Amino acid sequence: MPMNEPVPFLLVDDLDENLVALEALLRRDGLVCHKARSGEEALELLLKGDFALALLDVQMPGMNGYELAEFMRSSERARHVPIIFLTAGTADAQRRFRGYEAGAVDFIQKPVEADVLRSKAEVFFDLYRQRQQIISQRDELEGLARALRTSDRRKNEFLAMLGHELRNPVAALGAGLDLLARRKDPDHAEVLRQEMGQNVQHLARLVEDLIDIARIDQGKILLKKERVKLQEVLEFAARLAAHDIAAARHELTLDITEEPIWLDADYARVAQIINNLLGNAVKYSPPGQKIGLSVRSAGSSVAIEVSDTGIGIPEDRQAEIFELFAQVEGANGKTEEGLGIGLALVRQLVELHGGTITLKSSAPGKGSVFEVCLPTSS
Ligand code: ADP
Repeated sequence: MPMNEPVPFLLVDDLDENLVALEALLRRDGLVCHKARSGEEALELLLKGDFALALLDVQMPGMNGYELAEFMRSSERARHVPIIFLTAGTADAQRRFRGYEAGAVDFIQKPVEADVLRSKAEVFFDLYRQRQQIISQRDELEGLARALRTSDRRKNEFLAMLGHELRNPVAALGAGLDLLARRKDPDHAEVLRQEMGQNVQHLARLVEDLIDIARIDQGKILLKKERVKLQEVLEFAARLAAHDIAAARHELTLDITEEPIWLDADYARVAQIINNLLGNAVKYSPPGQKIGLSVRSAGSSVAIEVSDTGIGIPEDRQAEIFELFAQVEGANGKTEEGLGIGLALVRQLVELHGGTITLKSSAPGKGSVFEVCLPTSS
């Protein structure tokens, strides 16, 4: 129950005029009064809703107040509802005892003294509000604990993956050094050096991404904004990705208007965003697929689309791909190489530019389309 919802309480009396009088005494903002004219009617209400307090007339035809209280105490739902009995005349000790046994917390004599009733009832209304507050705090804490557990699990998985990701290039570099020391053939040495260079590049990219994520987390990434021609950045990003695209025999199609589109942006960061999306398009497509990079200018913003005809993303995983360390398992239950930080980083960089990134469409086996919208400058 949200904190400012009204507090419900129950009045049970067989006489209408008593119900009306009691309601008039207690009525005020923040309370809702429910009325029952018999024990049976009251039970029905008690089984449906929760109440901060039940004020029960003792003498009623049919089920009397004590019997109603006993029913309430045996019901899981109504057991905790505090009961105040309204008795005509002084209740003798024995009757009071029966009342307390049935679960009463108090007795009020009729004719009711307005101030006494109000202040006693207020205690229970307060208790009810406090209980609701505790329940909502408990729910909030449970939610936080769940989120912490998920993020802890992801971090552990991430550390395991980081180990794997680092081991491959490091092992390749170690083997390369070993071979260089043993074989003196210059042509072979050149090939080895190129391979080692690629491994160093891969390691450097990983380390840069890790540093970026940490910096963003601490709010330390500063954009070096300048007047940037979008076409130039896109061509640069496409050139950067060209080697991997060719190696996987993909075909890249550019659909970029010649009319210059200007951004007030960080050139290197925008290139990083596009390069990352192109890199994923390459990585998550079997060889020989089509990759597209297109631009559509709309008013004060521009939409950049990166599409592929690769493995796609199942619908139930699409919501999480922009989260840190999120990776989608492939059909074989394994993830491709990667750390699950690329898209999280891309989203942050896009948002730092005042833009948005969305997965426009994706389906397993049908490919994916990512769209980055960035504000343009005149
Ligand atoms: P990773 O380092 O794992 O590639 P990303 O943050 O870049 O991390 O991507 C998160 C996940 O989103 C990937 O593990 C992959 O499952 C999925 N994904 C991203 N881009 C694509 C794409 N173009 N096609 C299919 N799946 C993708």
